[in-house]
Amino acid sequence: MSSCNNECGNNWCCRHILGSTDKAGAKLLQMRNFKVYRDGDRYLCIGTKKCRHLKDGKCKIYMDRPDVCKGFPNSSDVSIVPKACPLKDRATYVLEDLEEVKL
Ligand code: SF4
Ligand code: SF4
Repeated sequence: MSSCNNECGNNWCCRHILGSTDKAGAKLLQMRNFKVYRDGDRYLCIGTKKCRHLKDGKCKIYMDRPDVCKGFPNSSDVSIVPKACPLKDRATYVLEDLEEVKL
């Protein structure tokens, strides 16, 4: 199975935090500048934050990166990737298919 080799060209996943929560949690995160999307009862939240291990476009701990990074996007309960990602078929959501909600 292939793994991420930054084919999107901008290390998108290493520069974002994402997760799912309930409406109350999503509201708090939105106040902290996370973008929020909705899928039924699930609120998907994306924040912008560069991983401290990303330097000059490369993961500085690549061989020892956490399992969640090694297996992304199918290692997470919820994974969101942009449509430029060649691994998007393994992700739970494609960013461009989601509609942002204001809470
Ligand atoms: S540890 Fe490496 S692969 Fe994981 S998010 Fe950070 S820079 Fe990306
Ligand atoms: S969007 Fe795809 S190619 Fe880009 S960093 Fe994430 S998993 Fe890798």
